[in-house]
Amino acid sequence: NEAMMASRDGENMVTIPPVVTIMGHVDHGKTSLLDTIRKTKVAAGEAGGITQHIGAYQVEVNGKKITFLDTPGHEAFTAMRARGAQVTHIAIIVVAADDGVMPQTREAIDHARAAKVPIIIALNKIDKANANPDRVKQQLAEIGVVIEEYGGDTVCVPISARRGEGIDELLDYILLVAEVQDIKANPNRLATGVIIEARLEKNSGATATVLVQQGTLKMGDNIVVGPIAGKVRAMFNDRGKRIQKAAPSTPVSILGLPEVPNAGDRLEVTPDERTAKQQAEAEAEKRATEAMPLGQVSLDTLYMQMQEGTVKELNVVIKSDVQGSLEAIKGALSKLSEENLKVRLIREGIGNISETDVHLAAASGAIIIGFNVKADGAAAREAQREGVDIRYYNIIYKLIEDIQAALVGMLEPTYREVIDGHAEIMQTFKAGKTVIAGCRVLDGRITRGSQARLMRKDEKVFDGKVASLRRGKDDVREVLSGYECGILLEDFNAYEVGDIIEAFSQERVTPGA
Ligand code: GDP
Repeated sequence: NEAMMASRDGENMVTIPPVVTIMGHVDHGKTSLLDTIRKTKVAAGEAGGITQHIGAYQVEVNGKKITFLDTPGHEAFTAMRARGAQVTHIAIIVVAADDGVMPQTREAIDHARAAKVPIIIALNKIDKANANPDRVKQQLAEIGVVIEEYGGDTVCVPISARRGEGIDELLDYILLVAEVQDIKANPNRLATGVIIEARLEKNSGATATVLVQQGTLKMGDNIVVGPIAGKVRAMFNDRGKRIQKAAPSTPVSILGLPEVPNAGDRLEVTPDERTAKQQAEAEAEKRATEAMPLGQVSLDTLYMQMQEGTVKELNVVIKSDVQGSLEAIKGALSKLSEENLKVRLIREGIGNISETDVHLAAASGAIIIGFNVKADGAAAREAQREGVDIRYYNIIYKLIEDIQAALVGMLEPTYREVIDGHAEIMQTFKAGKTVIAGCRVLDGRITRGSQARLMRKDEKVFDGKVASLRRGKDDVREVLSGYECGILLEDFNAYEVGDIIEAFSQERVTPGA
């Protein structure tokens, strides 16, 4: 099927708008640049169109379109890459001319390089008196980004996002780089795309912004997004206008998914509703078995620990009301994932706990954490039926404390032997078939039921338990140092005078203490 599609793609491939991400150090002007481009280019287009923040927007320059991902910073970029989604064709790295190359500038460049995405440097804030473009260019060269002026092949455009200077040149360069890239797709096939943003709307339910990558997304299309199946029931462009179809590189906000999907998840149009449901179920099962380790765990370490059998894992599903708390919870949990404890994130999302969440949790033995959310009625019933533990929180530190306790409880407890006392056998008595050891407690105490070993000339003869303990004719629970008593060890009767009974117990050592 895929091969058939690919061969058909050949004749249908057309040039599509480049998708651009803006990255760079904090305060270097990413947001300002995105705003300036949006204001100057979008308003000029559609009359009366008010731009909506749907996570991406498109502008038109000389009759050619460019799509900008509207989430500044590289979190969105890396989150999507982590899910295997490559959405960006060109990365704009914003560097403030007065501040120069900073840690996040380097990080952004690394991400773009790792993704093999061409870089354009936007040298921002050139309006500032202390701007020093030459120093920045020098710094860039030092980290291997050599701009054209210095004989390299990276484009560097001086701009002022605040004054709107250099923006046209920047857009021209984007089109130029895109042309060299020869970015193509087939608009005549069932659409595929990536979720770049999603949230729960009070009135309309799950709203997701899809960046269409292949094919044309149409109203009424049956779709599957990860473990969620649905149908395109309404579609809006970045100006809030209802549209019927969306070509490759178009960002559209859609309604019709029963749940809020994750950013970075792939969207696929299926030939029919049944296929969508089947694919969603298969994906749910797959995710349950291939849970993603949370945080930056080195694979080598994990593998080593797994071989040693020392890794313990707690599988979790996290649902939260807003992205911010979700990220905070994940951050805190990943810090817990140290030493021998792993928190595995099976699924994360915004919105109430759904039946899908419960099914995934049940399949992977996970607990569900709800932060400022509720479980849907059906989900709550399903959780009870499946025996899935749902925990609700509204304070992050409380949540973390509980999880930490759960993790500690999962560690194999270790025990340490504690000697309770010694008793010396002074004489032996026969009572029917049983033999009783008449003893004197030398130190500590002897307790009924405790573990005991019989030592003869410093050699262990027997390992067992104190079955009964007597003072005179009375059964007692415990006899202290200096007193005489009768001891009966379980399943043993070969006592000799002079033997020592050593009573001991196991003390649980609290892990981590
Ligand atoms: P971000 O953190 O990278 O998104 O940076 P912002 O876009 O929020 O900008 C940080 C600060 O720099 C804000 O106070 C902006 O007004 C200012 N700024 C952004 N671009 C320019 C510019 O071209 N010139 C000047 N002078 N200030 C700018």
